[in-house]
Amino acid sequence: MKRLISLFFMLTLLLAVQACADLGDEEVDASEVATEEFVTDVAAEEAATEEAVSTEAPVEVIEGAVCIDVTGPIIESVNAVSESDGGSETVLEETPLVTYVVSGDEISDPALETVPSELEDQQLDEATQQQVWEYYAALIPAENRDTIVEYSVFTDGVDNTLAMVTQTKTDPAAWSLQVDIADTANYYSLTYTLVHEYGHLLTLGPDQVTPSEAVFNDPENVDVLNEEVAACPDYFPGEGCSNPDSYINAFYNQFWTEIYEENQEISYEQDPDLNQQMLTEFYDKYQDQFVTEYAATNPEEDITESWAFFVLGDKPTGDSIADQKVLFFYNYPELVELRSAILGNLCTAFPQ
Ligand SMILES: [Zn+2]
Repeated sequence: MKRLISLFFMLTLLLAVQACADLGDEEVDASEVATEEFVTDVAAEEAATEEAVSTEAPVEVIEGAVCIDVTGPIIESVNAVSESDGGSETVLEETPLVTYVVSGDEISDPALETVPSELEDQQLDEATQQQVWEYYAALIPAENRDTIVEYSVFTDGVDNTLAMVTQTKTDPAAWSLQVDIADTANYYSLTYTLVHEYGHLLTLGPDQVTPSEAVFNDPENVDVLNEEVAACPDYFPGEGCSNPDSYINAFYNQFWTEIYEENQEISYEQDPDLNQQMLTEFYDKYQDQFVTEYAATNPEEDITESWAFFVLGDKPTGDSIADQKVLFFYNYPELVELRSAILGNLCTAFPQ
């Protein structure tokens, strides 16, 4: 199942980026140690992670963004888009260009697809491909992205889909990060999208949602899907049955039980224009429940958009349901800690 964010816009941001908080050399060195020790062996990997944790100073819990000059414009740009009508452009077909193997912080073994000649420049633009990967790897701590085993670069032209994550074709517990190289110049929208995509890994990865082999092996079979959904006592995103104490199951039970059926009706609509129209009506009806219009797509996009606002935005002071969805993540100390780590990384890695 593809997990993505559609951008039918490009963001124009004129705000200057200024210097932001410096986390100091000590933390950077510690994370590099963990990265270098990243190996496929699970026991060794856990040991490396524990070592990184034990040698680091306790992570400071930061509730406000530490480099507001960067995070402010990112969130403002998303809000600006939500308030616009978001008229959809013609969507070109997604063309895969190249796929790399991911090992820890490194990408290697680029496998080139056969592409039309007009896409060859983008296909061979290894510098940009590498730069985007390095930015992602700099943002998300290595121990939090070990389900990513593949990095693919594609394009559908400017706008439309910026990035997505999907289960790999061979292993439902391993995931692929895919980025449209034509949309990577704007680091505000790139950052928002990479944080959003990470939210899918965080909430749908194999430690949260046990992948359904039956659905994975026969993804178009509705009967198989229905059987798996019926057998699942908790929330069932497309990938499998969520664990009872998973983030997405808690989020669903807290926020979605009353509106899920109505939302599902929309997903059955095959006509893309009609589907979009129904989704907009659904969002308009429940606007105070969602941080963006895109969040109204389904629980998976909702938790992920709320996650992105949790990471990149200030702690909400209101009590709307949309605010409660962002506050949801503050109930999990490990996510508050991860937020701090990502924000610190962002402030260092965001291009000046
Ligand atoms: Zn998404």
